[in-house]
Formats: sequence, C-alpha cells, structure tokens
Amino acid sequence: MCIPFKSVSAVLAIALLASAPAAFAQQKFITIGTGGVTGVYYAVGGAICRLVNKDRAKTNVRCSVESTGGSAYNVNAIKAGELDFGMAQSDVQAQGYEGVGAFKAPISELRSVFSVHPEPFTLVARKEANIHSFADLKGKRVNIGNPGSGTRAAMMDLLEAMKMKTSDFALASELKADEHGAALCDNKIDAFFYGVGHPSANIQDPTTACGAQLVPITGPAIDALVKKHSYFAYATIPGGMYSNNPQPVRTYGVLATMVTSAKVPADLVYLVTKAVFENFDEFKKLHPAFAHLDPKNMIADGLTAPLHEGAARYYREKGWIK
Ligand code: GLU
Repeated sequence: MCIPFKSVSAVLAIALLASAPAAFAQQKFITIGTGGVTGVYYAVGGAICRLVNKDRAKTNVRCSVESTGGSAYNVNAIKAGELDFGMAQSDVQAQGYEGVGAFKAPISELRSVFSVHPEPFTLVARKEANIHSFADLKGKRVNIGNPGSGTRAAMMDLLEAMKMKTSDFALASELKADEHGAALCDNKIDAFFYGVGHPSANIQDPTTACGAQLVPITGPAIDALVKKHSYFAYATIPGGMYSNNPQPVRTYGVLATMVTSAKVPADLVYLVTKAVFENFDEFKKLHPAFAHLDPKNMIADGLTAPLHEGAARYYREKGWIK
C-alpha cells in the first residue's frame, strides 16, 4: 500500500511530538531573573540556562539570564510579565504569594518550580569596626541592601524583630550586592548584610582583600523569627570557608527558590524542570553552593506558592509526587 507523503509526515510529526512533548514549533526565548553578578543567583540562572540550551536544536527554546536587583524585583517582574522565571528567597516567595512584607497585594499567579541552595543571612564587618553581634551595628555605617533585593526585605524584618530602626545606624546605605564588598574595604561602610549561598565570590572578595569578618546573627529575636516562620531555619557558615575567618559562624537563613507565573505555559516550565533534573549531576557541579542538593528537598522545602503545573507534571512522571 502506498501512503501519501503528507500522511507520512503527519504520522512522523505525531510520533515526534509524542517523544518530545515540549518541543516548540517557533523559537521561544525565556529569561531568568537573578541577582548581582558576584552572587549565587546569577550562577544558578547560568547553570539552568546552560542545561536548557543543550537541547535547543531540538526544543527551539533559548534561555538567557538577566542580572537584576534580586528576589523582590524578580517576583514583581514575573507578575508584570517581564520575566518568565526568577530566583527568589523562600521568605520573599511566601510574602509575594501572601501579599505581605514588601508586597502590597497577594500575587496569586506566582508559582514555585523548585528550591535550590540555602542562603544564610550573612553579616560582614570591617575588622577594625568592633562589631561582634547584630546589636553592635547601632551607630555604625551599614549597607541594608538595594530596594528590590530579598536581602533588603529580610533586613527590614530582622530590624523589626530586634526592635531597631534604620535610623539606629549612622548611615543606612542602599548599595547593590556587587558594590558592598569594595565599599567595606574602602572604609565607606562598617558592615553589610547579604542573604546569599556559600561559598560566594561576593564574600570571598572582602574577606580576602581586607580581612573582613563574618559576624554571628543569634539570640532571642532570631529564635522567635525561626519559630514563627517556616521559611526561616538556623544555619552555620563553616569555619575556614573564607580567608581570615577560621571559626564557624552561626546565623539563620532561607532557601533560594525558582519561581514563575501561572501564565507561563506548562510545556515550557516542564522543559526547564526536566533539563535540570535529567542533568542533575552536571547541575550540581556547576557551583560549589549546590554540593548538597537533593531533588527530594528541592521539590518540597521552601515552596509556599503552589507548584507550577509544568513542574508538577515532571515530578509526577518521576513518581516524586502524587
Ligand atoms: N538573596 C539575594 C537577594 O534576593 C540574592 C543572592 C544572590 O544573588 O545570590 O537579595
């Protein structure tokens, strides 16, 4: 029997579609919003895009990263449809979905994809500044983070918990994370606060260049914060991870998460999720902060917004969720 050419190609097309359900007929561009280039979000975004782009001849999807102001900026840009995906601290994800903290109203279309590395809140001081606790920041020049960063949102929550205000500081600067290390070593500020994965080039620079010191963030106010919010957890930055800081430093922190919008097509989110987990060993090698990642935790911890249906489809296929 002779099958007309057209039907053969139709059969082939159907077969191809079945084996690669997330291939797109037209080239699609996706952008992941990250943070400063010296932080870890930028590396996470780069790693994810690298894995997505490996298959771009087949999938027709091209992924790129954008350096941004950080978590809250990313969540707002996703809401506005300016970004497809973004990195966000787990506290910022929760606050965005619920419409509290830095957010005026609930962002009900916010969706989680997975969580990534822990981000301990990291207080770094000039070694001459005599700062040994968060309370010692009173009267000092402190970088509280740029507006739009998750760091800034967390700093405001911490100040409230400590019953302190930015006016307790001699200066409350709003430098971006990429600028705070040099400002510290140039004696323009005494300390900076940053929610970031470790190790990070951002912390490596000032600890190496001018012996900057990591300061613990502990005490009753922190205990109350960790007790009250499930997105906070105690964390320890290992001793010797950074030059001139041989002691482990106790603090608390959040998880980095990847978020998107319910408006982003399920096939696209499925494709990105699949690219990460099908290449998981390679992904883990792309940054030292990923060393302890485990898919079991990544699909469960730190996710307040509902899972995007595209991510959920992949996790169901793997038998990771029901
Ligand atoms: N957690 C930081 C923020 O949202 C960004 C950290 C990073 O870029 O690695 O402000």
